[in-house]
Amino acid sequence: MRQYSIQLIRLCVLIFVLSAVACTKVFWKENDRPKSIILIIADGAGTGHHSSLFYDSDEYFPAQFAHVGLLSTHPATRKRVTDSAAAATALSTGIKTDNGILGLDPAGERLTTIVEYAIKQGMATGLVATSTITHATPAGFAAHVKSRGNYAEIARQLIKADVTVMLGGGRLHFLDTDNGGLQEEDLLAGLHRSGIQVISQIGEQVSSGGRIIGLFAPEALPRAPERKPSTSEMALKALEILEHDPDGFFLMVEESQVDWAGHANDFKYLRDEMRSLNELCGVLLAYQTQHPDVLLVLTADHETGGVSVAFNDQTNDLTPNWGTEHHSGNLVPIFATGPGSAAFDAVADITFVGQTLIEYVNRR
Ligand SMILES: [Zn+2]
Repeated sequence: MRQYSIQLIRLCVLIFVLSAVACTKVFWKENDRPKSIILIIADGAGTGHHSSLFYDSDEYFPAQFAHVGLLSTHPATRKRVTDSAAAATALSTGIKTDNGILGLDPAGERLTTIVEYAIKQGMATGLVATSTITHATPAGFAAHVKSRGNYAEIARQLIKADVTVMLGGGRLHFLDTDNGGLQEEDLLAGLHRSGIQVISQIGEQVSSGGRIIGLFAPEALPRAPERKPSTSEMALKALEILEHDPDGFFLMVEESQVDWAGHANDFKYLRDEMRSLNELCGVLLAYQTQHPDVLLVLTADHETGGVSVAFNDQTNDLTPNWGTEHHSGNLVPIFATGPGSAAFDAVADITFVGQTLIEYVNRR
């Protein structure tokens, strides 16, 4: 009997130790600093957009993220609604600025972006967008201009910035001669002189160790689902290039056109872009499972369209209702999974995202 009790105690101790180890592992994972970071920005996607996707899809992939929170997105002036420039600056630097400004504070002081911090740490960096790569959101991670519309200057700064891989649209913005950009015939030569390999097909072989730029359309890429390459294909291509860096990487992927569907109050456009986002989340969640040292974050820069989901008598279905053709001040969701993700279990301001990710990059 006594021997039996001792065995039982031993068994209990073993179970306790094993479960403590298991818990510690989960705790460690969620609170540790990530080696690499993938930030998905669904431009303009608020809870209404996510509700629409939730009811539209058999599998709503954002549900698979470990942590969820909400973010306020206003610019430096609290009682204003942000644009994508001020919000991109908040996400990339952790500091608020005025609408229209990229990578500078309201007084014009240059701010350091997470891409620049990551480069200092020896990490590889990537920007992917379905708009032009010079558009406010991707540009906010590597350019510093008073006006987001100064595409030629942004293109020039993107070439000079040491970003490892940039994929998206906007070939024309790299040809603007008026503002000292490159001549069309000089584009390839000019980029090559800057040490950048230019690819025109997503499947193209890339040389290892160098910088890569893929501009797959003169302006923005086509809408989903016709978009070629798709957002997921570009994200995977970027990862293929970035994942070899032993110091880790920072990758920003923008599902840019959710915002444009919101401005157009176009339900089909919104549905198709949110489906593209869902596919992207599925692909990147699978990648994160295989690479558990990667922190994966999905959020938005602001909400566009004032979307709510309501029953429609005519279609006998749920459809989005539009509250505005502009951005709204609605809080936006943030989803995170992987090491460091527990920090985003919060109601916070959008600057918290930039501050937290920069801290992860700087103190590894
Ligand atoms: Zn917008």
